[in-house]
Amino acid sequence: MRMYDIICHKRNGEELTDEEITFFVKGYTDGSIPDYQASALCMAVFFNGMSERETITLTEQMTYSGDTVDLSRFGDLSVDKHSTGGVGDKTSLIVAPIVASLGGKVSKMSGRGLGHTGGTVDKLEAIPGYRTSLTGEEFLSQVEKVGMAVIGQTGNLAPADKKLYALRDVTATVDSIPLITSSIMSKKLASGSHSIVLDVKVGCGAFMKDPQEAELLATQMVKIGKGCGRRMAALITNMDTPLGMAVGNSLEVIEAVNVLRGKEHGALRDVCVALATEMTALCKDISTDEAKALVLDSLDSGRAYEKMKEWISYQGGDVSYIENTDLFSKSEFSHPVTAKSDGYLYRINALEIGNAACILGAGRASKDDLIDHSAGIILNRQIGDYVRCGETICTLYTNDPSKLSESEKRCISAVTLSSERPPKEPLIYKIIH
Ligand code: URA
Repeated sequence: MRMYDIICHKRNGEELTDEEITFFVKGYTDGSIPDYQASALCMAVFFNGMSERETITLTEQMTYSGDTVDLSRFGDLSVDKHSTGGVGDKTSLIVAPIVASLGGKVSKMSGRGLGHTGGTVDKLEAIPGYRTSLTGEEFLSQVEKVGMAVIGQTGNLAPADKKLYALRDVTATVDSIPLITSSIMSKKLASGSHSIVLDVKVGCGAFMKDPQEAELLATQMVKIGKGCGRRMAALITNMDTPLGMAVGNSLEVIEAVNVLRGKEHGALRDVCVALATEMTALCKDISTDEAKALVLDSLDSGRAYEKMKEWISYQGGDVSYIENTDLFSKSEFSHPVTAKSDGYLYRINALEIGNAACILGAGRASKDDLIDHSAGIILNRQIGDYVRCGETICTLYTNDPSKLSESEKRCISAVTLSSERPPKEPLIYKIIH
């Protein structure tokens, strides 16, 4: 079998056989198939798609491309969540301690930023000392004792996805339903949790732009998970506007802490409550009404915040940064982006804000770029606010002042002001079980 022929078949719109998919995943994982051929195949899949059978085979092959985690010691309580990626999406930092405080066993392996979207591991690395890499035994014993651990994708867990994820990030092949399905589900299945909640983002800042496509992706992932014996739920949530007010790694950690401390309400908290509710309901096998009451109590009583501190400190992080978020180092330069006329804030385009934050140093333009943890954007105003010409809409933070003007241009184009009030958009479109 030759990789060249596999690329040709998919380029010509044919279905790949199980043997061809297996050959590709094995060869790419062991290095015998080079990046340039894998990128060509990803691009062919991007344009021509994959059938359900091809997607299932690709997911299975990627799941078993490396080790799998055995979480059977936690019984039904093991639970995981995954987002398809968005701008300002720091939900994992909030949701995981809520669910752990309620007895769930959250064993989470997270990714890095992809394209214009942020990644949980990059955010956690903003906390001095935090160990994003633990040995298998350290990971399991932390989940046992603390109820949760969040690490980066370990060396040999779904290594096929690890390589493909980084490659797709820089070859414009992220937003493809079969590639996202196989990427997310291979990691989640290999990570071993009995219950899995997916946050499928939809809107201009998400990989899925259209609600119908998002539903297709969510339905396919739920079906694959259930087929493998897992309890599944998928929420389809709005990503037209950044989630919350902060975009950028340490800025987002600070915002997550504020939500857990009850200092911030609004869309971010609401999405977190919905996700934590589904996770709690699945792993404790209770109704969503019961689960929601528990989730709200954990937030209001401060137990979720206490759990966050316990988690961060157990995993090596300096907990004084969580107790006093002023300790996070600040960017050397900040710059206000102001309104160019009066009007209602009608739209804040999440994609443009995500790109503007990457330009400032919050994300990567190529796979080996270093992140500036303090860089990013704070939105000072929200959709629906009336702003006057000259008022600050958002503030840019960076350590590289040469990036400010390009980033500012992106932010200005991200914002639409109107004489009309914007309609209220749904935050959660649908929940699929
Ligand atoms: N998140 C993933 O883990 N994989 C994707 O392909 C997209 C988002």
